[in-house]
Amino acid sequence: MTAGTPETPAAACHDADCGLVALIRSAEVKTVEPKAVPVVPPLDQSADEWDDAPLYQARRKIYPQRVSGTYRRIKWAVLLVTLFVYYLTPFLRWDRGPNAPSQAVLIDLSNSRFYFFFIEIWPQEVYYLTGLLIIAAMTLFLMNALAGRIWCGYLCPQTVWTDLFQAIERFTEGDRRQHMQRERGGWTLERVARFGAKHFLWLMVAWWTGGAWVLYFADAPTLVHDLATLRAPFVAYLWIGILTLTTYVLAGYMREQVCLYMCPWPRIQAALTDEHALNVTYRYDRGEPRASVKKSAALLAKGLPAGDCIDCLQCVQVCPTGVDIRQGPNLGCIQCGLCIDACDAVMTKIGRSTRLIAYDTDLNIQRRKQGLAPEYRLARMRTLLYVAIIAVVGGVMAFTLITRTAQSISILHDRNPVFVRLSDGAIRNAYTVRIANKRSERREFTLSMTGLAGSLLDVVQSRDDGRFVVGVGPDQTREVRVLVTDYADRPAASTPINFHLYDVITGERASAGDYFRAPAGEAK
Ligand code: SF4
Ligand code: SF4
Repeated sequence: MTAGTPETPAAACHDADCGLVALIRSAEVKTVEPKAVPVVPPLDQSADEWDDAPLYQARRKIYPQRVSGTYRRIKWAVLLVTLFVYYLTPFLRWDRGPNAPSQAVLIDLSNSRFYFFFIEIWPQEVYYLTGLLIIAAMTLFLMNALAGRIWCGYLCPQTVWTDLFQAIERFTEGDRRQHMQRERGGWTLERVARFGAKHFLWLMVAWWTGGAWVLYFADAPTLVHDLATLRAPFVAYLWIGILTLTTYVLAGYMREQVCLYMCPWPRIQAALTDEHALNVTYRYDRGEPRASVKKSAALLAKGLPAGDCIDCLQCVQVCPTGVDIRQGPNLGCIQCGLCIDACDAVMTKIGRSTRLIAYDTDLNIQRRKQGLAPEYRLARMRTLLYVAIIAVVGGVMAFTLITRTAQSISILHDRNPVFVRLSDGAIRNAYTVRIANKRSERREFTLSMTGLAGSLLDVVQSRDDGRFVVGVGPDQTREVRVLVTDYADRPAASTPINFHLYDVITGERASAGDYFRAPAGEAK
């Protein structure tokens, strides 16, 4: 694969988005012979020439042209849905009872809780996060195995916000042609106004993006009120400022450079892809040799070959990363499909069949050249493996979520000393027992122990009527100190024991195991 390729300057409509008709007309009077663009210098290049080759290539500003078509509509739909979800989710409510937050999605850092609708994740259940990360990674791999970088082209936040910022830019500064003309025309009053309006709108979007982010960490309506009345914590303003700045810079200025130079995914996905993955592909078998409409008609009349590509450069001019997909697979291509829409429009206009550029594989191009039917293999070993991993991890997570209890118990054995010998010769071990009540009401639990016959359990300061009753507040944990005393004549060095927790009302239970330690082989 080659690195990101800037737009080709020598084009009939390079500096003007003069519309398809004008483009095709200009293509009719111009013939461009197919030529390969050298990616690496020739091998016979002298050492001096190598030394003189610049190591840095300055960025060429990209002015993506407006385009319409199937993939553009899909991208608009995805953009609207994802932004709608991101901006409005903090305001969704979910009734969890009187002692719990009513925000549907909330990262409650102060109480170490994550709320997602009916799911509440405690710190000790962080393995759910591991499961989610595995599923996310496998889903990304699966998308890549099916259709290359479609995550990048449609769903990546960088793509979504850059798309939005570019739409604002076209709205304020005009489409490609007007924008370039205005920039060439210097600073007029109108340009200053348009430029100011663009940056104002960019900043508003960036500010609201940062503002929405902090709403995931506190009750959204309350925090909005506190922010407006300047009573919110400083850290909220700080994070809004940081995210406003990063959104503004990344989506407004850096754009495709994030995809080309900063993001590791293109490098990783290039190593994970295979010949069956559908990628945005220029069907060079059909497009080459490229020539204008007039020229190709003349070539065909002479019995010479002529491809369908009229070299109008529409596919390059709409590309958000400035890639010329006709040069082959490119790390800069985010698989957004906009060049397909642009080329389809051109093909429709000149009465040729569409999908000269399409989601396809190089393998199929070779097959077509051999007169074979194209082959699409979505179910392959790697895609089945990814689906299986997603299903297994998702199934385990779903099972544990369904069967998880509303109470838990964990044991910490005293380490120093591990045991003590009492004056009557008995051995005593001490434990710190943590009891978690995951319900939104106060509950009382009894504590018992099994596994050590003839021993005594003592829960410090929790005796009630001969039972050990521990009250735990709503959605809270409580630690109690537990003493276990063994009166056996010759206790074992290590005996497994179990602690049991019972809800005194509902009878729900939880258990945890540990060991009772004693001096090895010593009689009382
Ligand atoms: S591939 Fe299509 S859009 Fe691109 S230059 Fe050729 S005809 Fe024009
Ligand atoms: S080459 Fe086509 S699919 Fe790739 S980024 Fe450019 S417009 Fe999108």
